[in-house]
Amino acid sequence: MVAATVGEAGSMSEPRDFIRQIIADDLAAGRHAGIVTRFPPEPNGYLHIGHVKAICLNFGVAAENAGRCFLRLDDTNPLKEDQAFVDAIQDNVRWLGFDWGDRLTHASDYFEQLHACAVELVQAGKAYVDSLSQEQIREHRGTLTAPGRNSPYRDRPVAESLDLFARMRAGEFADGAHALRAKIDMAAPNINLRDPVLYRIRRASHQRTGDAWCIYPMYDFAHTISDALEGITHSLCTLEFEDHRPLYEWFLDNLKLPARPRQIEFSRLNLAFTITSKRKLAELIQLGKVAGWDDPRMPTIAGMRRRGYPPAALREFSRRVGVTKKDHLIQMSALENCVRDELNTTASRAMAVLKPLKVVLTNYPADRTEQLVAINHPDQPALGERSLPFGRELWIEQDDFMENAPGKFFRLKPGGEVRLRYGYIIRCVDLVKDAAGEVTEVHCTYDPETRSGLSGAERKVKGTIHWVSAAHAARAEVRLYDRLFSVPRPDGKVADEPQSDFKDHLNPGSLQVVTGAWLEPSLATLAPGSVVQFERLGYFVADVPDHRPSRPVYNRVVTLRDSWAKLEEAAGEAGRD
Ligand code: ATP
Ligand code: MG
Repeated sequence: MVAATVGEAGSMSEPRDFIRQIIADDLAAGRHAGIVTRFPPEPNGYLHIGHVKAICLNFGVAAENAGRCFLRLDDTNPLKEDQAFVDAIQDNVRWLGFDWGDRLTHASDYFEQLHACAVELVQAGKAYVDSLSQEQIREHRGTLTAPGRNSPYRDRPVAESLDLFARMRAGEFADGAHALRAKIDMAAPNINLRDPVLYRIRRASHQRTGDAWCIYPMYDFAHTISDALEGITHSLCTLEFEDHRPLYEWFLDNLKLPARPRQIEFSRLNLAFTITSKRKLAELIQLGKVAGWDDPRMPTIAGMRRRGYPPAALREFSRRVGVTKKDHLIQMSALENCVRDELNTTASRAMAVLKPLKVVLTNYPADRTEQLVAINHPDQPALGERSLPFGRELWIEQDDFMENAPGKFFRLKPGGEVRLRYGYIIRCVDLVKDAAGEVTEVHCTYDPETRSGLSGAERKVKGTIHWVSAAHAARAEVRLYDRLFSVPRPDGKVADEPQSDFKDHLNPGSLQVVTGAWLEPSLATLAPGSVVQFERLGYFVADVPDHRPSRPVYNRVVTLRDSWAKLEEAAGEAGRD
């Protein structure tokens, strides 16, 4: 078979975490001819940053070992699943840089084999049809401290169970009338081994199998067998499945299967100031707290993509986070630093003014326009140059002017000089104010001898500010995004925090829309999805789908400097351990 391909992702050298060590040891010991992994999302929502870690791990270790990785949709619960999610998952994984080749599978592909395995267990006296209600089954299960009790149907003859199971499949019974259970041990200290349900009756149309089935397999059963059928060598999952491993192994021990995968657990990725639960993310959408799965504030792959995060930054983040068994909270700054590091080298620079203040150059002819030359990146000559129109009236940032400025203010102030980026040195000579005393225009003179790039123009002033030509600027909407939640652990997930409702902690300032921004003209015509640095302001992406030349819309990807470090410090969060 073909080796897994992983786009650019495979070129990164991965640190050897405990899982990679196990795999290296297994290969060295000759336990496997090749490595086979899988990423098995349930299509009941969009993938999020936690899944990024699982995707990079599974596709990553396969690629590093010339192995194979399956993308398997774990579609055993038709009530919660949707083809739209199946499509989005594939799109997201591909965008992240991974390729499953011909290894796209579904748990539902195996419904016949799963059913045959169930019959095999019944025939061997290792499974039975229980006729207790769901509620009674729960009561019989016992608790962490009390053993469970046997169902009165537990010793039902094999033939009777076989007959009932066949009739369950044939649709003779109502939902919940019977269930198929493994016969293991109702007194097992591990509750997962107390005769777990393998199949339940559920009259629901499945997005792939339609009405062919009215019984559906439970997750643990379907997952183990799917792994074995695909010849998975290492079944990598998150720690909450640790207690399920004995059941995983029980299935492997008690069924005739073509392979014996090994389950290995690693800790979930928890990211500060956000949540990683499809169910809770779906709730935010239902309640209208965010605009959808791809809202740029969402920790979903679709949201981060629209936010302008490059896929390489997400892969790098996953690499830096690493793989361990420790439960920890990763700082948002760790993710944003990866985004900054990537964009710093790849994003072109441009100028935009978000809070505009008019500057009039009183000694510059009103009918004149010059084309100044600006480089697109300070140290990537390949990104080229562009021309910037310059004229008598400019927009600058309100914050770059101060009427009563302290001595250390090196931007524009009455009587003071400042350099316009790629342009001239200007001096503030006069102010125009409105009735309320607010400065509405700053009048300056420009020094024609100081045009940037001209020889002899190197006269130094302390400050340089960005600007756009008022006659040429494009008016834009700029969306400033901030963290979605105002506390580091909105769902109180990490052990020492009390459980609280995550919806109480939404950050009311998570989206600020600036409608009156001005952009240099080149920014209006950039393709949607392009990411640029607005000099001195941050990285911004032309929104998909809202940006167009006649109405530019940009989203802030990330600020230039780490605005999180302080916040996280204040919240008393230690960095990752
Ligand atoms: P959710 O609670 O968001 O629904 P899930 O674990 O139920 O998450 P699945 O679709 O079942 O979501 O997950 C697919 C794979 O991704 C699983 O192997 C799971 O262990 C892994 N995964 C899910 N969340 C995380 C996370 N936060 N960190 C690392 N891996 C994760
Ligand atoms: Mg799940």
